[in-house]
Amino acid sequence: QLNAEIIAVGTELLLGQIANTNAQWISQQLAAYGVNVYYHGVVGDNLKRVEDTFAQAASRSDIIIVTGGLGPTDDDLTREAFQSLTNLPMNEHQQSMEKIEQYFHKQKVEMTANNRKQARVFTGAVVINNKIGMAPGMIVSRKEKKWIFLPGVPKEMKQMMLDDILPYVRNMMGSDEIIQSMVLRFIGIGESKLEHEVSDLIQSQNNPTIAPLAQQQGVVLRLTAKADSIEKVNLLLDQTKATILQRVGKHYYGMNEETIESKIVSLLKEKGYSIAAAESLTGGMFIERLISIEGASSVTPGGIVCYDANVKANVLGVQKETIGEHGTVSKECALEMATNIRHLLQTTIGISFTGVAGPKEIEEQPVGTVYIAVCNNSESKVEKYVFNGNREIIRRKAVLKGLEILYN
Ligand code: ATP
Ligand code: MG
Repeated sequence: QLNAEIIAVGTELLLGQIANTNAQWISQQLAAYGVNVYYHGVVGDNLKRVEDTFAQAASRSDIIIVTGGLGPTDDDLTREAFQSLTNLPMNEHQQSMEKIEQYFHKQKVEMTANNRKQARVFTGAVVINNKIGMAPGMIVSRKEKKWIFLPGVPKEMKQMMLDDILPYVRNMMGSDEIIQSMVLRFIGIGESKLEHEVSDLIQSQNNPTIAPLAQQQGVVLRLTAKADSIEKVNLLLDQTKATILQRVGKHYYGMNEETIESKIVSLLKEKGYSIAAAESLTGGMFIERLISIEGASSVTPGGIVCYDANVKANVLGVQKETIGEHGTVSKECALEMATNIRHLLQTTIGISFTGVAGPKEIEEQPVGTVYIAVCNNSESKVEKYVFNGNREIIRRKAVLKGLEILYN
């Protein structure tokens, strides 16, 4: 059994300016491959301290993954620290150098000498092509240990991990085991409730393993199964999926990369329905989510962003009396917004969002109060919600709730 350590290099991490999301993500990936991660380290851009951190890692871990400090500037010291520790020779990586030169040529800017540094690799290293940025990654074998150097930029790091490092690690573990994950997506259920419903499964079984994760689009369960053939892996995943859906199936909407908005667009399409939105606090975010799906034009003409009360009244035609009597953050206003947008844009369904995103209360309604109304030709309903969080979170939760209402 191999154990791994992840070292993030960068003073901005120590200062708390950014969170070490690289380590979190890498750990999740390695866990799915059965690699134990025993240590996470963070060290600033200081030659001596980076070298010390590397020395310690060398004494206790089999796989050491280092992110950051591969760039061109003086505070990018990862190579220097490793060289200082190991005395390994370095050479210029031809392909990477050409890529860097081409980049500067295209941009028509003079390439400064320090940019050459990014193409420097340890002699004998497996060089990992950087498909997005400049600095290549490296896998260095030394004293039975594998050192994996990756850029700090999350996008670049992830691409290299998925394309090159994880397959390499799997190979290294010398197994013909096939490992596959399946992500089950849920809406309308919180992470802790979902976890509670399947907690006995999470605890009692390890193939597949079941991990609940909260994501912006709702909560997911990630199943990871291992077996010696793809058929067996799929069987294991499908069996566990069925067991889980027996319990929480009514909150399930899709698998893997499926999104709730893509589900809704295809549902509307199937039924031949269309939808329009009148959005106050969500400022168009709801319609944006639908329009991000290919083919959304057949199910929505769009909507109106009616943030100000005057727009609600003058453009959307909400009665001044309604606003005067009940306020804009009210059941009555939400209902009129949904009914009117449906009429104006001649759709099957109208939906509306009005509420208090914060930070200040409006019309004596506390921050987080949101009314969402939905109507069609025969009925309309409106519901009041109180969401926690800051302005951004409240607006996002409102949109998610709207999607959830439509899905149900
Ligand atoms: P570059 O070539 O861009 O300089 P680099 O390999 O030198 O890349 P850094 O300079 O350390 O990497 O980091 C580049 C950027 O990547 C940082 O500004 C930060 O936004 C992000 N980053 C670095 N390390 C991490 C980390 N551990 N977690 C999340 N983001 C990170
Ligand atoms: Mg840098």
